[in-house]
This record gives sequence, C-alpha cells and structure tokens, in this order.
Amino acid sequence: MPDSSLMHEIAEYFLLTVVQVAVIALVFRPMERMWPVEHWPDRRVTAIDRSYTLIKLFGVLPLFTYLILAPLGNLFGGGNDDPTGIVSVQGLVPWLGHHPVLLFLVYYAIQDFTYYLIHRLQHAIPWWWALHSLHHSQRQVSCWTNDRDHYLDDLLEALIVAGVAVAIGVPPVEYALLVLSGELLQNLSHANVRLRFGPVLDKLVVDPRFHRLHHMRVDPERPTLHACNYALVFPLWDILFGTALYGEKVRPTGVGDPMVDADNRRGIVAQQLYVLKRFRAAVLSRAGWRPGDVAFNARYEPVSVRDFDLHALEESQVPLAAQGLKSTERHNGAGS
Ligand SMILES: [Zn+2]
Ligand SMILES: [Zn+2]
Repeated sequence: MPDSSLMHEIAEYFLLTVVQVAVIALVFRPMERMWPVEHWPDRRVTAIDRSYTLIKLFGVLPLFTYLILAPLGNLFGGGNDDPTGIVSVQGLVPWLGHHPVLLFLVYYAIQDFTYYLIHRLQHAIPWWWALHSLHHSQRQVSCWTNDRDHYLDDLLEALIVAGVAVAIGVPPVEYALLVLSGELLQNLSHANVRLRFGPVLDKLVVDPRFHRLHHMRVDPERPTLHACNYALVFPLWDILFGTALYGEKVRPTGVGDPMVDADNRRGIVAQQLYVLKRFRAAVLSRAGWRPGDVAFNARYEPVSVRDFDLHALEESQVPLAAQGLKSTERHNGAGS
C-alpha cells in the first residue's frame, strides 16, 4: 500500500473519531442533562470514563487495528481487492457479492454475534470477569462508560473479533466502519438517558434502557436477574438464547462485590494494576476457570457468590459521596 493512501486512511480515521467524540459531547451529554434516568448529586466518577474513551479512540483502537488487523489480513490474504478468507462469506454465498449493503449487514451480524459470545464468557468465566468487572464497577454509567475496560480485555477481544473478521473476509475499510458505528451506538446505550426505542425497535436495536439493565447491581432478592442483555447492537441474540430482559424497572448500576467496587476510588493506572491482581489470582486458581458468578476475596481470589450473603453486601455499600475520591477528584476539574 503506498504511503499516501495509508496517510489518507489514518486522517480519515481520526476525522471520524473527532466526529464521534463531538456527537458524545454535544448530543449525548446534553440528553443526559435534560432527561436523566438517575439523578446524581455530581458526576465526579464519570470523568475517568471520559479519559478512557479518549485514550481508546485516539490511541488503543488505531494501534490495535494496525498491529493486529493488518498483519492478520496479510497473513490470510484478505483485503479490499481480494475479499477472501478461511471461510469467506462472499465465497460461500457469491450472490451477496452483488448486494454490498446486504453483505455489510451479514458482516455486521456475524461480528455482533461474536461480541455477544465473548460478552457471555466475560461474565461466565471468573478470570475473564476479573477483567470485565472493571467495566461494571462504574456506579455512574454514562455516555462515556463504553470504553472503560482493562487493556488486556481489549486486546483479547480485538484478537478474537479481528480474527473472525479476517477469517470471513471483511475488507479492512469495512471493518473500521463496523467497529466505529458499533462504538457510537454503544456510547448511546450507556448514556444516563431516559430513552427507549419503543416496543418494536427495542427488539431490533439495543437502546439505553436495555443496556442499563445489563449494568444493574445484583438484586439480593433475585440474584440471577442481572444475567441479562449481553448484546451490544442486536438484541436478537439475547432473545434467541433466552437472556433478554424487558419491562423491568432500572436498578442502580455497579457491583455488589466490595473488592471490585473499590475501582471507583482509583485512577486509571491503579485500576489497571488492581484488575491485573485479581486476573492473576483467578487465572492461577482452579476456581478461576470454573464457570459461575464470583466475587473476590481479600487475596483477590475468585469465590463463588453462593458463599456470600448478598443482602449483607448490598447493605455494606458505601455511598459515593462518603468515599475517599482522591484519585477521581483529579479528573473533576474539566467538567464532564
Ligand atoms: Zn458485561
Ligand atoms: Zn456496558
């Protein structure tokens, strides 16, 4: 690929990214101000998520795309002019080659289903939950929360999703479009906005209420209720696999596990390091590989939630205002 076209692609990527950040800041944020679901006395713990979003969009995502997707693509011979792959969709159904919009939708569906499966595993396998729990530790889920992730989790996810994309022959430009458009919808679905797409559309596309239910704190009376709504774009996967939850009142977001909830008192670097501690302890223990809901003990090892008194955990929650917010106060100055 000549350098000029590479530069052109990079410029295009950053332009799209600027647009995305502008949409979050100028559309989703005002919506949160006008129609909030949860009323917060302040937004101090949301600021760290804004930093996560900027780092992800301007650093991690383009880096991964060029470090992972491009080499994978070269390895398996996918590309714009040569839409091949190990199990190329276009090769299997040549007819789709003449219907680019349909073909794009098929790619989109396959990618979204891959995300759904990954997300189920992130909750089911304790060592993966050790990483993904950072995303769920946020008590103030907002339009910036989508990219609050551990970077090892991001890497694993990117390897799998990009691997699937290359295997089915998605051209790189379309892949970038897939990722970016999915991102924007997910920024909206995390927004603290009283917004439902309606009884028909909310079965077709994930809306803020649908994803907020996924982020609910465990309900001691109904301890499996939060195991719902894993889909990122199409709720179809949850409907098909019996994990869809509609018509439920939203509950406060966050986690019952105090070891994970402590992420709210940390800055980005400390969060990344503490998550690694629980990941390490989980990966090295037998319990870390046994599927099921876990919390973490004082040594960061996963323990089945059946061994915890969920009512006691619920009652032990310290209100954010009463916590030492040293690390997040630093982010407060810029006004999210
Ligand atoms: Zn999740
Ligand atoms: Zn989320």
